[in-house]
Amino acid sequence: MIRIAIANQKGGVGKTTTAINIGTALAASGWRVLLIDFDPQGNCSTGLGIHQNERGASSYEVLRGDSTLVDAAIPTKVPRLDLVPATVDLSGAEIELIDFEHRTHRLDAAINAAPPGRWDVCLIDCPPSLGLLTINALVAARLLLVPLQCEFFALEGLSQLLTTFERIRSRFNPGLSILGVALTMYDKRNRLSEQVAQDVRACLGDVVFETVIPRNVRLSEAPSHGLPALIYDHRCSGSEAYIALARELIGRLPAPAKAA
Ligand code: ADP
Ligand code: MG
Repeated sequence: MIRIAIANQKGGVGKTTTAINIGTALAASGWRVLLIDFDPQGNCSTGLGIHQNERGASSYEVLRGDSTLVDAAIPTKVPRLDLVPATVDLSGAEIELIDFEHRTHRLDAAINAAPPGRWDVCLIDCPPSLGLLTINALVAARLLLVPLQCEFFALEGLSQLLTTFERIRSRFNPGLSILGVALTMYDKRNRLSEQVAQDVRACLGDVVFETVIPRNVRLSEAPSHGLPALIYDHRCSGSEAYIALARELIGRLPAPAKAA
């Protein structure tokens, strides 16, 4: 199973939108996808139409070791896309985990314990922080996908994320690498967007995906209908961009994975 963490400690940069729509695009391509909502805000769960009272075991119970991944995963309206939901309980986890053994490896252990053939890919939607939850996600993942919003402070904070990434790679997870940086909320009418995109490419080079996700109101409307934009309106510019991004992303995966 390919394991991808979607992380950026800034809020509102498009992590959850990317997780939901890349997950949907991969599922539509025939992959069996597990999405782990790892943000106490539970936006990924809400955005997929899973209401609070439908959330049984969540990522919190998985982290505590009180539920397996398989037991916590629930099907969504999207065929082949399963979700481990999040609840507000997860907000206490950062503090609670301090007393746990192997506190940085809780999610990794849970994923390792899942039956190997159950899912082809696992996407982890991280919270907007570099705390213990994101660390668990980076220890469990093999690839990091970073959404970066096309706004003035886009690159600010990225060095902090990359430092955390390096630290986790050298201490715990030598197999971790960067899958790519995805530019989000690009506004073609705004010259600043264009400038930021150019600067980010000049600074980071090929790690930045060619596909740029435009600012598109359909992407922000879809979650209130409990649907991925790719299902809510598969022809809007946002959905088309996410389909292209998924294709580019598949092209970057290690060779055996592409055939999955
Ligand atoms: P994060 O998970 O990083 O906090 P979200 O994916 O939740 O970010 O996005 C923040 C807000 O912006 C949400 O309301 C979302 O619907 C909206 N949004 C995300 N991407 C786009 C986009 N490309 N165009 C317009 N709105 C977007
Ligand atoms: Mg989010």
